[in-house]
Amino acid sequence: MNMPIFIVAGLLVHCVFLISIFDIYFTSPLVHGMTPHQTTLPPPARRLVLFVADGLRADSLYELDNNGTSMAPYLRNVITSKGSWGVSHTRVPTESRPGHVALIAGFYEDVSAVARGWKENPVEFDSLFNESKYTWSWGSPDILPMFAKGASGDHVYTHCYKAGSEDFGAEDATVLDTWVFDHVKDFFSSARNNETLFSKLHEQKIVFFLHLLGIDTNGHAHRPHSSEYKGNIRKVDEGVKEIVSLVEDFYGNDGDTVFVLTSDHGMTDWGSHGAGHPSETLTPLVAWGAGIQSPQQVSSQQFEDSFLKEWKLETWKRQDVNQ
Ligand SMILES: [Zn+2]
Repeated sequence: MNMPIFIVAGLLVHCVFLISIFDIYFTSPLVHGMTPHQTTLPPPARRLVLFVADGLRADSLYELDNNGTSMAPYLRNVITSKGSWGVSHTRVPTESRPGHVALIAGFYEDVSAVARGWKENPVEFDSLFNESKYTWSWGSPDILPMFAKGASGDHVYTHCYKAGSEDFGAEDATVLDTWVFDHVKDFFSSARNNETLFSKLHEQKIVFFLHLLGIDTNGHAHRPHSSEYKGNIRKVDEGVKEIVSLVEDFYGNDGDTVFVLTSDHGMTDWGSHGAGHPSETLTPLVAWGAGIQSPQQVSSQQFEDSFLKEWKLETWKRQDVNQ
């Protein structure tokens, strides 16, 4: 066979294979143009407070230290006294953006987003925030805008710190989380003197989203077994406790608020994420408040892993979900 023709044919075959990969795998799971439907059932809660502790591993939150004390005593108490808990299994790539899209928009994102660094929307998608009456969100400028950008109308409000403050080598990244907690506190105290905001806050279908990047940042800089990472978990636990009591107080303990704490992805022992190791894919899920079942004591439960014993939570019903 003629050599140049052979080379050209070989190249062509490779090109066809390469293009077919994109054609077969890089397709969006989303279907557009459907009619929205609403349920006629009354909602179990009027409002949701969603805490996402970026980069928080399930075991880091649930395990006890050598003295048998928890890094997160408040959330531990929630698990055993008023809420439900489990492990939220994330999917590869274990990155912030696909994790948040799964949590807030409810689908595993288009893999072609990887070609855009997981920053831009390859396709427009609907989200919980867009379907809410109002959403207020606080946190990183890398995460919040993507849900505000696609939202129809002006009802998804974002409060971000400046991109420059996300110094991944920073001594103490817990400031990213205290920033969020402080701004939420200011927001609720200002709402008491602002009639428009006050009435908006008393609508149905309200979401508050607190994106807490400190744990992820401390995990990259100091690794998950460091005192910085663990200290940050303690800070988040305290912050969650304060925000819960503040929100309950603001709404006069009406029992219409649901609280959810989870994480977008975990982190390996050496401070990375993105792949499919259990340290990256297993994230915590704790939910309590309106519409959430109170803790159920059980004598046995079936899980293939040995975590229940390690975490000393074997008597509290664990309910896993796919993120
Ligand atoms: Zn990270």
